[in-house]
Amino acid sequence: MRKADATGEFAQALVDWFMQCGRDYPWRRTTDPWAILVSEVMLQQTTIPTVLARYETWMQRYPTPAHLARADEQEALLSWEGLGYYRRVRALQATARAICEKHDGVFPREAEELLALPGIGKYTSAAVLSFAYNKPAALVDANVARVLARLYDDRTPIDTAAGQRAAEARATQLLHRTNPRAYNSALMELGQTICTPGKPRCELCPVRTLCRAEHPENLPVKAAKQQITQIEHWDIWLFTTRGLLMQQQPADARHAGMYRLPQRPRDVAQKLPRICDQTYAITRYKVTRHLHRAVNELPLEPTERFVPADRLSSVPMASPDRKLVLKLLADQPALASRKTPRRAGKYRRPAPPTS
Ligand code: SF4
Repeated sequence: MRKADATGEFAQALVDWFMQCGRDYPWRRTTDPWAILVSEVMLQQTTIPTVLARYETWMQRYPTPAHLARADEQEALLSWEGLGYYRRVRALQATARAICEKHDGVFPREAEELLALPGIGKYTSAAVLSFAYNKPAALVDANVARVLARLYDDRTPIDTAAGQRAAEARATQLLHRTNPRAYNSALMELGQTICTPGKPRCELCPVRTLCRAEHPENLPVKAAKQQITQIEHWDIWLFTTRGLLMQQQPADARHAGMYRLPQRPRDVAQKLPRICDQTYAITRYKVTRHLHRAVNELPLEPTERFVPADRLSSVPMASPDRKLVLKLLADQPALASRKTPRRAGKYRRPAPPTS
């Protein structure tokens, strides 16, 4: 920041800009703490366009904590399809149940009460306090951390404890005392739209006269980059008159309660005809699934069962599994008569065997 006494000037310039140029999202039109909590949870690891496509429908289905608290877990998981990171909906359901059990379904208003709920940490608590109740609680997400590092020309890595402490202290010091709701939204939006990663659009910035960054494109500094880890697994496809063989994930699995195509050890799967490969990315993992066509006499695992074709749409699956199942069901006649589907699409056909 240009001057220590410019904090009020910064907050006011930011809020004025936001009032004129701020984007209109459904979660900005409400002060309902439940609706705000849901939007924050959805936005944690999902892009705004994807959340926009699902948020209002989801809120119509679960308009209060009580609606989600009494929902079946399978139904809740199914409602989350397309948003990914399914642990979030289970955590949200735990939060909803705690609100019903400990607060008679009334959303708490104090930081201590919010932080005592399962699934609510410092960031989410501050989001609910400021957006729902307009309380002075500062927020730091990746966008805010980037803006603040540039504003103070600070080269402390933002993904270290020291970098996070500095960002939180600055966000709190700069907080607009009478309109923290608009201030927090404005700071996040500045990072999303103008002070973006790479080269920011400083010529449009409402606080450029207060910014110290000389080479903002080099900020923020981050500690060592995460390595991408490659993962491979071998799955089987068995579709009979009883339906599609699926496996329900155990309680300790990443996608607990959800359905997926059954896996087999590589040496077992590779004895079966190969259908296709599918690759997809999850956080720092690049996953390759090799899919093989099984035969009826395959021994089944205890967690595996046939799901009738007309029930497949009502069992929860992660997006890569859903896409592959839909694709292969559409190709089912081809699968019955060939070792590989005619159109592999984004799913690679296996390379011809080499001798
Ligand atoms: S002037 Fe540029 S670098 Fe500084 S806060 Fe604004 S957009 Fe970011």
